[in-house]
Amino acid sequence: MKFPLVVNMWGNPVRCIAGIVFALLPAWFLGAEPPREPSNRQPTALRDLVSAKDELAAQELLFDASFAQLALAYLKAPDPAVLEQLAKSPAAAHLLSHARNFDYDVPKDSPAALVSHLLTPPGKHQDEMQACEKSLGLFTGPMMDDPHWVWDTLRYLPQGFRFHGTLFLTFGYDIGVAFGPTASLNCAHPHFKEHPRELVYYAIHELHHVGFMSYHPPPKLSELKTCSDLLSLVEYSTQLEGMAVYAAYPRRRDEHALADDGDYVALEDEQRMRSAERSYFEDLNYLKGRGKQTADADAWAVIQRMSSGERLWYRVGARMAQRIEQASGRSRLLDLVKSGPASFLEAYQALQRSEASKQDRP
Ligand SMILES: [Zn+2]
Repeated sequence: MKFPLVVNMWGNPVRCIAGIVFALLPAWFLGAEPPREPSNRQPTALRDLVSAKDELAAQELLFDASFAQLALAYLKAPDPAVLEQLAKSPAAAHLLSHARNFDYDVPKDSPAALVSHLLTPPGKHQDEMQACEKSLGLFTGPMMDDPHWVWDTLRYLPQGFRFHGTLFLTFGYDIGVAFGPTASLNCAHPHFKEHPRELVYYAIHELHHVGFMSYHPPPKLSELKTCSDLLSLVEYSTQLEGMAVYAAYPRRRDEHALADDGDYVALEDEQRMRSAERSYFEDLNYLKGRGKQTADADAWAVIQRMSSGERLWYRVGARMAQRIEQASGRSRLLDLVKSGPASFLEAYQALQRSEASKQDRP
């Protein structure tokens, strides 16, 4: 489903006088339902945003922007009591458990230390407030007015999957992350300032991680010691990230937004993707070859190449998902979400072998 008011939603300028006049007329004046106030009630349950008959009403998903709201309040008028309130929030607990699992370079002793790292000194964060205000407006406005974008995530998760968690709007942490039943988006990230509609595409992406992690919990980074541990991380992240990138692909394509994100620019470039795939398998086979040897700098350099630069596990993972779906159908791709990373990789390599044998035939 599509957003009915895509132009207004993303805050694009209305380009003609008639458009301005139309935009100024309240929707209810034109015969539509009276507009709902932007939801300042936090959290908001997905089930309260749709009719009881809507299939989304079965999802136990909350949207909670209170961290971003409080962060903005603190940056406007710094009050230590607000920092304390933020430290006690479920969003801070979510960020801390993510930081601890993925060993992020942030204070991990307490939620208070993490919140203080993200927001103090307040003078350092004034430039980020504008992006955050904009993200907050989208998150509590158009994204709640029509939450059917959540279907984009569900479409690429096994049937019967149910959310039991929260999508938070936070401030200052990565661009978006997921851990356990919770996910978050960073209202202040410069990518959202430049391209506001990216917020919904990243919401689709992060919520897909929540679904995937419910079948396969992520490894704890500090416990990875050998090359074979890193190989498992590569396989895990290839399916996790590849599926999430791919889940947001149809809406981005339909809304002509592929050019706004480097992963999708690369995915549209067959030559570049072939070369990325060669690099990906070289690195994968290198880790395989090293077996149980201790993970040293050379082995960790693979993780760097996979997650940054050409972002191999995002892009090659999404290409694998796309090609599996094209060759074997979406239900096969969703079965692989259940069976996990090793099966996903094996299915893709089986597909490659069968394509190669077709080409060899006279
Ligand atoms: Zn991701």
